[in-house]
Amino acid sequence: TDIEELLLSRIRDVADYPEPGVMFKDITPLLADPAAFTALTGALADVAARTGATKVVGLEARGFILGAPVALRAGLGFIPVRKAGKLPGATLRQAYDLEYGTAEIEVHAEDLTDGDRVLVVDDVLATGGTAEASLELIRRAGAGVAGVAVLMELAFLNGRVRLEPALAGAPLEAL
Ligand code: IMP
Repeated sequence: TDIEELLLSRIRDVADYPEPGVMFKDITPLLADPAAFTALTGALADVAARTGATKVVGLEARGFILGAPVALRAGLGFIPVRKAGKLPGATLRQAYDLEYGTAEIEVHAEDLTDGDRVLVVDDVLATGGTAEASLELIRRAGAGVAGVAVLMELAFLNGRVRLEPALAGAPLEAL
């Protein structure tokens, strides 16, 4: 579609970042173009509406940049999932595996409640580890999962397959 072409044209490939052999998808040109940024947040807000989401979770850090306008456009609250150690209140914490080592993310426990259906927003789905951990946090908080919505999925890393159990039938939408 026209929107897909616009979005794709504003993603920059950066070779050998953050390490040799990796082709990094850089969304800063898209953020700098208000037409593309508007199209992206509108399409993600459509996903929020279609999935019946009641809250939007954004994953640090680019998921904050996208998730906050998506939440406002969809008329929903925004909840940050942060790297461990950044949130001041009582948190739930979830560890997940990286290629080398582990990482931990956190959410304020009281921000998610039983009746919520949460849409997770991020820029790029790679291995799916970060999104998977965020879905664990959402369920541990007692909330339901409306889905995961990303700008782009790096399909060769099979994140979609890894996410399947945690999604439990909820959609993964990659624009
Ligand atoms: P995953 O946990 O392996 O799926 O990695 C996803 C996380 O890493 C997301 O929060 C992304 O923002 C980030 N990420 C991984 N690869 C890229 C990329 O090529 N461009 C931008 N972000 C990326």
